[in-house]
Amino acid sequence: MQTLRRVAVLGAGTMGSRIAAHFANAGVPVLLLDIVSPVTPDRNATAVRGIDSALKQRPGAFFTAERTALLSPGNFEDDLGKIGECDWIVEAVVENLDVKRALWRKVAGVRSNGSIVSTNTSGIPLARIAEGFSEEFRRHFLGTHFFNPPRYLHLVEMIPGAETDPEVLRFTADFCDRRLGKGVVLCKDTPNFIANRIGSFFGATACKIMVEDGYTVEEVDALTGPLIGLPNSATFRLFDIVGLDVWALVFGNVYQLAPDDPWRERFVPPDFLTKMIESGWLGEKSGQGFYKRVGKEKEIHAVDWKTLEYHPARKVRFPAAEEARKIEELTGRLRTLVSSGDRASVFLWKLYRDYLLYAAGRLPEISNRIVEIDRAMRWGYAHNLGPFELWDALGFENTARRIEREGGPLPPRVEAMLAAGAKSFYRAADESGRPRTEYFDLTASVYREVEERPGVVELAPLKRARGVLKGNAGASLIDLGDGVLCLELHGKSNLLGHDQIEMIHAGIKEAKRNFEAMIVAGVGENFCTGTDLAQILTRAQNRNWSEIDGFIGRLQQANMALKYSARSVIAAPYGRTSGAGFELALHSARVQASAELYAGFLETAVGLIPAGGGSKEMLLRLGDARKAFELIGMARVSGSSEEARSLGLLRIEDGVTMNPERLIADAKALALSVARGYEPGAPRNDIPVAGDGGESLMEPGAAGERETEYDLVIARKLALVLGGSPVGRRMLSEQDLLDLEREGFLSLCGDPKTQERIEHMLRTGKPLHN
Ligand code: NAD
Repeated sequence: MQTLRRVAVLGAGTMGSRIAAHFANAGVPVLLLDIVSPVTPDRNATAVRGIDSALKQRPGAFFTAERTALLSPGNFEDDLGKIGECDWIVEAVVENLDVKRALWRKVAGVRSNGSIVSTNTSGIPLARIAEGFSEEFRRHFLGTHFFNPPRYLHLVEMIPGAETDPEVLRFTADFCDRRLGKGVVLCKDTPNFIANRIGSFFGATACKIMVEDGYTVEEVDALTGPLIGLPNSATFRLFDIVGLDVWALVFGNVYQLAPDDPWRERFVPPDFLTKMIESGWLGEKSGQGFYKRVGKEKEIHAVDWKTLEYHPARKVRFPAAEEARKIEELTGRLRTLVSSGDRASVFLWKLYRDYLLYAAGRLPEISNRIVEIDRAMRWGYAHNLGPFELWDALGFENTARRIEREGGPLPPRVEAMLAAGAKSFYRAADESGRPRTEYFDLTASVYREVEERPGVVELAPLKRARGVLKGNAGASLIDLGDGVLCLELHGKSNLLGHDQIEMIHAGIKEAKRNFEAMIVAGVGENFCTGTDLAQILTRAQNRNWSEIDGFIGRLQQANMALKYSARSVIAAPYGRTSGAGFELALHSARVQASAELYAGFLETAVGLIPAGGGSKEMLLRLGDARKAFELIGMARVSGSSEEARSLGLLRIEDGVTMNPERLIADAKALALSVARGYEPGAPRNDIPVAGDGGESLMEPGAAGERETEYDLVIARKLALVLGGSPVGRRMLSEQDLLDLEREGFLSLCGDPKTQERIEHMLRTGKPLHN
């Protein structure tokens, strides 16, 4: 099979509807079936409701609302016959073996031979679902376990059965990787597979320590979130998101189906959890769980697990944790956290000790390699480090010895690892410029190579193996091979400042001398959200206008140098890409964007206008001052690359990569194809403008209407750039427009209201409507 003509998704609940949405994001038509609604005359109402709820979800399940057109809702009674036209049937109905088997029996009678059949079960053994089905069915049957929300969580666990055809597995894995953009981890058919087996143990252990040592729900969440490299949902917010009843099912799976698990008792739900489930406090879906929102102000209340009464969520203070929070680098922070000896440290050490021992003890039962376990926890639970990477970060030997000292016992395989003199689970083993990483094979007690993944370029190992050609605190130049140079943005949130500007110029020079093309990539969660506003604010407060003017001028010239560089420059933005970060992308010859691109200009929210060439480029890009005025003035940000394209922020010739791990390699491939016969062009002097000082843009009833008086002042400055000034000139050069941008930016910086807006944004992260 080369492509998918149509997919059927069975079940339009939380997962089915979102999985269907994501297939639609990938451009695949979906037949979405669910039970006939018992309460409404519309027989497809259950499936339709699923689509509606996916559409309303925030952050969105669909790249754009138009994608819903690819979904055809139906029901299991009237539309089963249409499954015959589908190449892949994904089942995501309620987690119940009998229900799933009954549905598969019906589907088996109507599906076409050769179609892929997969289940999204969280933990029911695949063998039990497929038992008794035809051999042809079983050859095409496998588990495809998406994580919630499927668009955003990177992991898909893929569980082949004993008879699954390797070609079916290969095709499905490849489709999930390239077209759906997921990170595939192959799992064995063991209870809860990998991520939920390890992740539920983490949650169960947090509950146990909380109860035994008397911590509060808020304390546990404060300790198990971003402080230790986990998402904001921490422990109990995650319980609420997933559903307490679902957790109980997952716990129950291990308890019942893994009788030999030495930690089995950990999966007996604590009393408070059982009582909460009995009361119907299932989390977000029932309006309350560990947390609930109360009153008009939606104040957050947390449950006291001892009394099961709610109280306004309390701010948690652990002085040692507050100190550790200041350590930016995660490894150093974690080491400090587990060694300080205070209440925070005691909790985290107990949690980590059991968690590391549990993970290490599960090999080879759930996986032959530590690599899959680490990937599953990073990709499925969004942990910054998987358990073995965490163990390395804490120090393999020290941590093992500490566990031993405190009574251990260590799993025999870890003891063997210590005896073999191994110093870490992973180690660098680069070979003459080729990055190589080895992992410790716990089952054979030797180091083995982590395989290369074609199409996945990771900059950190590349830098380790090759070094950088040039670099400073804000950016580095890396040789990607094949004649492509990479300018990597790093430093605090990749914000653009002097260091990055210096490296842009250095990169352009280096590319001209020794490379065919250059790509601009970033590290971390977001590509780049602009310049350092705190610096702009300090300079404005000190009335240091010449410094602001000089900085903005240098930013503009760096972008112009990128745009007219002798070698083509390809930007590879992803995540939040706003302000100066997006201006950089706008000045690149092409963009290879991640499908998850949140691009646009937020300047007006802080009382400014884009001045690094962004207003100019939007005018050029859209060829329509009113559209540019609206887009910048309303601070529109795309919710995906697809939306960015429909807003005119990306061009038709720009590329989009679904799998973020493939972004750099895709950008490199695009760079090489653009490089052939590339002509840089020259700055333009013929940009048509209204020449009316922006008056037509500000006409009443036009896009010039704003919320506050000051919004109008900002809009006028923007109109002055886009409408052309001085009055009467109908043709401007790029430099004229840059000068207008800079003037507007500077004059806004001088206004106390802009300074208030910036100060408020820096303090609260929210815009001020003054
Ligand atoms: P859900 O309760 O939101 O949806 C289940 C769907 O099954 C509903 O649309 C319902 O109409 C349908 N259904 C109920 N009874 C049925 C029957 N007798 N016959 C046919 N269909 C019936 O559940 P969900 O959270 O979407 O879970 C679906 C599957 O995905 C389960 O196997 C679950 O374990 C798994 N899963 C869930 C999550 C999660 O976070 N919710 C994550 C990964 C996997």
